[in-house]
Amino acid sequence: MKIFNTLTGKKEDFETIKEKELSMYVCGPTVYNYIHIGNARPVVFFDVVRRYFEYIGYKVNYVSNITDVDDKIILEAERLNIDEKTLTKVFIDAYIKDTGNLGSLLPTKMPKATDYVPHMIKYIENLIETGYAYHSGDAVYFRVNKVDDYGKLSNQVLEDLNVGARIEENYQKESPFDFVVWKSTELGMRFDSPWGEGRPGWHTECVTMNQEIFKEEIDIHGGGSDLKFPHHENEIAQSEALHHHPIAKTWMHVGRLGMDNVDMSKSLGNIIWVKDLLQEYEYQAFRLMLLSHHYRQPINYSTDLMNQFNHEWQRIKRALKGVFVDMSIEHYDTVEYNNETLDRFKEQMEDDFNIANALTIVYEEIKMMNRATELSAKARSYYTIIQMLSVLGISVEQKMLTEEDIRNYQDWQIARSEKRFNDADQIRIRLVEAGIL
Ligand SMILES: [Zn+2]
Repeated sequence: MKIFNTLTGKKEDFETIKEKELSMYVCGPTVYNYIHIGNARPVVFFDVVRRYFEYIGYKVNYVSNITDVDDKIILEAERLNIDEKTLTKVFIDAYIKDTGNLGSLLPTKMPKATDYVPHMIKYIENLIETGYAYHSGDAVYFRVNKVDDYGKLSNQVLEDLNVGARIEENYQKESPFDFVVWKSTELGMRFDSPWGEGRPGWHTECVTMNQEIFKEEIDIHGGGSDLKFPHHENEIAQSEALHHHPIAKTWMHVGRLGMDNVDMSKSLGNIIWVKDLLQEYEYQAFRLMLLSHHYRQPINYSTDLMNQFNHEWQRIKRALKGVFVDMSIEHYDTVEYNNETLDRFKEQMEDDFNIANALTIVYEEIKMMNRATELSAKARSYYTIIQMLSVLGISVEQKMLTEEDIRNYQDWQIARSEKRFNDADQIRIRLVEAGIL
């Protein structure tokens, strides 16, 4: 298998550290709002990575955190005049619901930052003891200059970073690049620490949870491409400082999904929430849209684009439902696969998750299924397609047919063949309503 590793900037041969086991950490949401369709892209993509490894027989340990302490959470709780825990509970539940509605499995573990604060304090104490962090004014900072190759993930050298533009200048810091690992505060949710009451920095949360849960270097660390700098760069710096490894052997980043070539943001008012999109479209159509783009490429979302993939999905679903009805009528129950197709599908998945190409193999198999005359050939294609789609987290809900359903279906076919189109349409509506077509 080959995977593009952001850390080396190359597509590399990929092997897990432990045989037949994959350890993967993906940065999760800061829970002060619903997730939008841009946030949903990594939720879908890394679910496919997990499903694929499980499909080829790996045990997957997939951890995705919940950031439930953050300035944005504190401000939003204050604005709504509720406490932070009440706010985060609402949006953790909403996130779990959206994840399921997107057709993604829940990660094997979803650690909450607030459950690891004592570990974070210990982590920061270790950073201070080893000279990698210092307490100054109302914060503890990481000493970036002490790390030799800071910037290696996002390919930046310190001198090139534009002070003031991206990095806030601050006279408490030894260097403008130093980042906060602990912040003292009197506002909102806070915890006791050797540096007074305060809360941990976001970059320290992820690196600590990684260390506490996995205890050692992991296979894949992932997230959206916007997290490369500074978040992931700073996670790596802290891990290199204390553990002498960059947390993960392979770093994977998913391209952004925006609209009109800009990111979705509250200030621009161009946000589409997942919960709203899924009122209008089936999740399968949305996954098909996302997965038809290479994961490292950006997606420029539009209603036209979504409608195009919705149309594709309806076509796929119709073809599969038709064959399912044929099999039900004939009581055909032999499950067989076109192994050659599955091999070609795997080949594309193992070429840095080229899911767009893997989907063309799905489409070819649909064409074969539609053209086949023998039911056994149709059925073989059917099961092969269902298998490939399930790796992509796309399932087709099939309803077991009753005798009445079958009678209706046969009446529909007769009406069509006799060109009684009005009758055919009416029966068709009944069949669609019953979930058969
Ligand atoms: Zn993170």
